[in-house]
Amino acid sequence: MRLCVVVLLASVLATPERLQIYVVDVEGGKAMLVVSPTGESLLVDTGNVGAGAHRDAGRILAAVHDAGLHQIDHLVTTHWHRDHFGGMALLARHITIREFIDHGANVQPDPVVDPFLRKTYPVLYRTAKHTVAVPGDTIPLGEVDVRVIASAGNTIQMPPSEGTPNPYCAAFRRRENVVTENSQSIGLVFSFGRFRMVDLGDLTANKQFELMCPASPVGPVDVLMVTHHGQPPGNTNVFVHAIEPRVAIMNNGLRKGGQPEVMTTIHRAPELEDLLQLHASELSGQEYTVPGLFIANGSDKPQHAMPIAPLRPAQSRDFSPAAHNGMAYWIKLSAYRDGSFAVSNARNGFSKTYRARAGAGFTPFGQ
Ligand SMILES: [Zn+2]
Repeated sequence: MRLCVVVLLASVLATPERLQIYVVDVEGGKAMLVVSPTGESLLVDTGNVGAGAHRDAGRILAAVHDAGLHQIDHLVTTHWHRDHFGGMALLARHITIREFIDHGANVQPDPVVDPFLRKTYPVLYRTAKHTVAVPGDTIPLGEVDVRVIASAGNTIQMPPSEGTPNPYCAAFRRRENVVTENSQSIGLVFSFGRFRMVDLGDLTANKQFELMCPASPVGPVDVLMVTHHGQPPGNTNVFVHAIEPRVAIMNNGLRKGGQPEVMTTIHRAPELEDLLQLHASELSGQEYTVPGLFIANGSDKPQHAMPIAPLRPAQSRDFSPAAHNGMAYWIKLSAYRDGSFAVSNARNGFSKTYRARAGAGFTPFGQ
């Protein structure tokens, strides 16, 4: 008996501390739960409004329970689009959210968003903390450094003498400058020991250029949470190639994200080993899709085969009535202080471990 206790204790002590990240399927919206080794939690976005809100809040809550959480310490809403805050009010009924973080006022008038911000949101944060994020801020999450690198159209700036000169800046062509909520997205870098991950929400191409040029403040990362659900305008060489991700995780939907030009951009990233997708994307077709091992979800009525040629995106702006409202699976990432990490696909049990990157590591933000 005593021997058993000793063996059990030794195995517990030998388990390295890990940062856990659940990338939750909210049908082409966004929801990502980050849990520090000591149990502090940060949720980034809460899925779709309307018909999808119940479904998405339930899927997020399943991840919250799996992680054994009794509260959410910080909720970051990257921006005020309908696919990023829809499950918030429902979620707050089931679990205490201690801090609500956003970029500030909505810049893109919307008949669903504006009443929410006027009536519902202030009630939710009335008994909690409300913070407007500014680039350079950190969010306390145990030993995990969470750094705000973009918010409200502003980006963290590296002095030209510091940072890594970005060779992709010269070829960048600015897009038409339209102020949308995407351009206001909160961008975050997570560092745990030598492990690093970046997530820009839906930040636009022009803002990515402003962040990344002339010198990148981000440096090489292990994991990229793919920007803007894997849609074309938000995935640029100036960002995706410069940060040299080893693994990319795309929060696409069945017909949102995964277009050929994005798949090509991501696969050309110099150090990329694998791309994982929350969904099979009909916009990829067989030509551009990743193997099923790396895809967490399909539709409620499985197809016999993926179309060979990519389909065109649906014209509708309403992404909520997905063809996948049933059982959903997350992609889970576990990262360790030495820089090694593992990804797993909850649908098929596939998992893969990645050794720590060689080299001295990158000191971000001129620290
Ligand atoms: Zn979005």
